[in-house]
Amino acid sequence: MSRSALVTGASKGIGLGIATRLAAQGYGLTVTARDAERLEMVAEDLRAAGAPDVVVAAGDMADEEFAVRLAAAHGEHYGAMRALILNAGVGTSGAIADFPMRRFDKTVAVNLRTPFTLLQASLPLLHAAVKADPAGGAKVIALSSMTGVFAEGGLAVYGATKAALISIVETLNAEESGNGISATAVAPGYVDTDMSAWTHDVISPESMIKVDDIVEVVDGLLRLSARSVISKVVVNRAGTSGYSA
Ligand code: NAP
Repeated sequence: MSRSALVTGASKGIGLGIATRLAAQGYGLTVTARDAERLEMVAEDLRAAGAPDVVVAAGDMADEEFAVRLAAAHGEHYGAMRALILNAGVGTSGAIADFPMRRFDKTVAVNLRTPFTLLQASLPLLHAAVKADPAGGAKVIALSSMTGVFAEGGLAVYGATKAALISIVETLNAEESGNGISATAVAPGYVDTDMSAWTHDVISPESMIKVDDIVEVVDGLLRLSARSVISKVVVNRAGTSGYSA
């Protein structure tokens, strides 16, 4: 059985970087994002980069039922999951005083609730990967954020979802790392992608963390044996105090 990974938000930015690296290493992939057309083009590129197989499943990570179908699609195709990359996320800013509750619900759904559902639905497949390779184990990587580690004005809801992801990752390690499944929350400051473009008038893209740097971190984490657990990696942006994004 060849290794396989499921990557959410794989059509651009950090998710695309991770999927491309895994493709080059021969992972079979399941990729997801909302824009089906873009995802099909990305899948072609991933096959060309070396992925033996790419399952394309377009859908909205605000929808829990989609997450269940997504894990099932991966399971039907690969029978196991060596790596689950919980990357898709929505960035929202706004002061607590007048933050709209509809936006609160959407942010929590995409960044926290559906990733949790996907994790639950993927656990049997992650266990199957451990059985196939007990020494390597199975891995979960969750894209958290600096704002989940240190609070920042205007980012209460986004930061809360990212802090909660760190907590879930730590709990997963408490529950499952002894069984071969270990997880890491990667918490970067601003990374140069479409998501951070809104702040270019204050923070230049050249000063932001490179997608490739996050890919290197994730690649290293995935290469660890099942004996080591790194719950959290904080990646600071050069020129900052280390306490802000
Ligand atoms: P990005 O370039 O905007 O890409 C986001 C990806 O997620 C796209 O593939 C997008 O495709 C997909 N996506 C967004 N909303 C979705 C939804 N509701 N359902 C399904 N897919 C969805 O973002 P990025 O900067 O790479 O961010 C990736 C992760 O890193 C996020 O969790 C983000 O919070 C975190 N992060 C980013 C930064 C940063 O500064 N960029 C810093 C720290 C942490 P579609 O639009 O087609 O759905």
